[in-house]
Amino acid sequence: MGTKADVVIIGAGPGGIFSAYEFAKQRPDLKVVVFEAGNTLEKRKCPIDGKKIKSCIKCKTCAIMNGFGGAGAFSDGKYNITNDFGGTLYEHIGKDKAIELMKYVDGINVSHGGENTKMYTTAGSSLKKVCMQNKLQLLEASVRHLGTDINYVVLENIYDELKDKVEFKFNTPVLKLEVTEEGGYRVFFGEEDYVESRYVIASVGRSGSSWMEHVCRDLDIPTLSNRVDIGVRVELPAVIFSHLTDELYESKIVYRTEKFEDRVRTFCMNPYGSVVNENTNGIVTVNGHSFEDPSKRTANTNFALLVSKHFSEPFKDSNGYGESIARLSNMLGGGVIVQRFGDLERGRRSNKTRIAEGTVRPTLDATPGDLSLVLPKRILDGIIEMIYALDKIAPGTANDDTLLYGVEVKFYNMEVELDENLETKYHGFYCIGDGSGVTHSLSHASASGVYVAGRIMEEMGARE
Ligand SMILES: Cc1cc2nc3c(=O)[nH]c(=O)nc-3n(C[C@H](O)[C@H](O)[C@H](O)COP(=O)(O)OP(=O)(O)OC[C@H]3O[C@@H](n4cnc5c(N)ncnc54)[C@H](O)[C@@H]3O)c2cc1C
Repeated sequence: MGTKADVVIIGAGPGGIFSAYEFAKQRPDLKVVVFEAGNTLEKRKCPIDGKKIKSCIKCKTCAIMNGFGGAGAFSDGKYNITNDFGGTLYEHIGKDKAIELMKYVDGINVSHGGENTKMYTTAGSSLKKVCMQNKLQLLEASVRHLGTDINYVVLENIYDELKDKVEFKFNTPVLKLEVTEEGGYRVFFGEEDYVESRYVIASVGRSGSSWMEHVCRDLDIPTLSNRVDIGVRVELPAVIFSHLTDELYESKIVYRTEKFEDRVRTFCMNPYGSVVNENTNGIVTVNGHSFEDPSKRTANTNFALLVSKHFSEPFKDSNGYGESIARLSNMLGGGVIVQRFGDLERGRRSNKTRIAEGTVRPTLDATPGDLSLVLPKRILDGIIEMIYALDKIAPGTANDDTLLYGVEVKFYNMEVELDENLETKYHGFYCIGDGSGVTHSLSHASASGVYVAGRIMEEMGARE
């Protein structure tokens, strides 16, 4: 059975939510339908409790990745306002516009529960010079840290505002897209059930990457895929990094290795936070988060050190390469492996006793092991070099007891060929957020949603 809508949005992650927000705010007269494969926010509960259920039981949709709020719902809620990382939105819409929209998104987050959170910035920081003096580059950014707790509150408030203005269809994955003869689209959510619309915004995120690949193949939309980031999560006493994290919260630092001239970078820094497992298609990798609420803080700071791997022809499956390395760590450790930096340097595995004797209390119950059996030498050499470089600006980073968890993998979606307005070669079919390959962050994904909603309303205005 078919119905009609003015706009269909596929995916209720940050990209889809901010598109919907703009339509609801500026054109409440429009019928906007949002399809979401996952659940409402309050029903998103991962069954892994560490006791009865210890590992992924492959739910129909993953409560961590799918549902209102998307992959970012239980994240640390760091909204970085920058063109230096987090995506390449600026290549499409221009640097000034991208920053303007990220600031606009920040304003909405602040007015929906984030008013008491802090904005950190690298502007005017003396740490830039200190980094430079030690062959490290501190990337420019302002970051709003909502924290996992406030991020949830903001999402709750935005949903409350939208739920009566936009039609949400939860637990309803879109199956396929058909182009109609009139130049519109049929968005199928059942064999015969569809919504027809002139405008479709796909915002399916990382979890919708295979769906997006199918759609691009069916509609002959060109794509490109050649990057994966691989590395470890470092955990150390928070005091070692406190001069950086107190001022900047998250410092994105890049190091060019002397040996191979590879770029190693810090990623997702969580002051006073916890290291956590992440499950991607049944493969356990590592991640981290922290809370805004001081009572939930730990004594440690964690961050990832990642090396980007770009592949050239004929190899195309960069994500498959990252998955294979993660699988290897799962095979050896039954999940994530943890190793003391001192043990890695001495060429021996860590064991329970060595970890227990160390001064850093692990915040994740991982299997002590040997990361050199998992990570390719070139990647591991780069990580070790960077740890020594960081030790110069944060003495203690290269201590024997610093913990390294592996592996951390950052998968990238293939890039969908899009024009400057994030429109595919099909008029009215837009692709935004992480699913487009253009963004890999909350702020860029959200900004792309605002941008495309604006474009569509502009065009609708011109038609009317
Ligand atoms: C643990 C974790 C922590 C993170 N922390 C941060 C952070 O602190 N700062 C930061 O900038 N970024 C962070 N990120 C990344 C950030 O969450 C993503 O960049 C962001 O969520 C991308 O938004 P999106 O809307 O493009 O996609 P997503 O958030 O992935 O949302 C896509 C939505 O589309 C739905 N969907 C997929 N396919 C279909 C379909 N066929 N039909 C219907 N619905 C579909 C999915 O269920 C999902 O809800 C983190 C990610 C993770 C996993």
